[in-house]
Amino acid sequence: MIVTVEHLSYSYPGGVKALDDVSFSIADGESVAIVGPSGAGKSTLLMHLNGLLPENAAADGEAAVRVGELPVARRHLAEIRRRVGFVFQDPDDQLFCPTVREDVAFGPLNLGLARDEVERRIAESLAAVGLADFAQRSTLMLSVGERKRVCVAGVLACRPDVLVLDEPTSNLDPRARRELLAILDAFAGVRIIATHDLDLVVAHCQRVLVLDGGRLHADGPPASILSDTALMTRHGLEVPLRLKLARSGWSDGL
Ligand code: ADP
Repeated sequence: MIVTVEHLSYSYPGGVKALDDVSFSIADGESVAIVGPSGAGKSTLLMHLNGLLPENAAADGEAAVRVGELPVARRHLAEIRRRVGFVFQDPDDQLFCPTVREDVAFGPLNLGLARDEVERRIAESLAAVGLADFAQRSTLMLSVGERKRVCVAGVLACRPDVLVLDEPTSNLDPRARRELLAILDAFAGVRIIATHDLDLVVAHCQRVLVLDGGRLHADGPPASILSDTALMTRHGLEVPLRLKLARSGWSDGL
């Protein structure tokens, strides 16, 4: 198991309990969606996967989250963040350099890689997201979809084992959405995706976790979990159109 979460609970300093005894594990190569209504705890859970909530990065013995053999604990954060690449929902939270190449170089430079290796990583990851010619472009002069792909390139440049994405398709038009999903499909490692885009889940994930009120309510294959009308309604979700159509025999061509 490459990602293991055991009895993870978390309350924000103000006292809001965002996660309540959450446990699951993910095997190498799995593509796993986390769904649930707003406020369910999805972003809080993602942030625990690479120690973005440092006050909760426990001492080794108590760590509720492990990536491979490593606990998500303060003293391992540098290696944890190499292993787990985090793509924020809003590219503005992630991109801060004047040019695309500088932004993509940031992670590899931070890892202390040699200059020629950094150059190789920039070229490789921009090619992987279909932006090979964009290295000298300003990050401010790009479409939302391109900015999102630059974020993914920056994360891929660190060659992570796990990609964590918060609402990767929000604000993307259909073509940009398709391009981003093709990049995710091509990634061989673990993908963990918090999303309201249930069609994405059906078509691109092998497994879905339903989170609500900070608790895990279901964990299984999208086709069976997301077609459970009672479960979906209980957690403020809706059976995706393609599953409704599949039920009625009209799925061809979707
Ligand atoms: P989701 O991503 O599913 O919308 P979140 O993880 O953002 O859910 O939020 C889970 C709960 O934690 C919500 O009740 C939310 O209001 C609360 N919360 C989120 N961030 C903070 C914060 N920085 N301080 C206090 N409460 C927060």
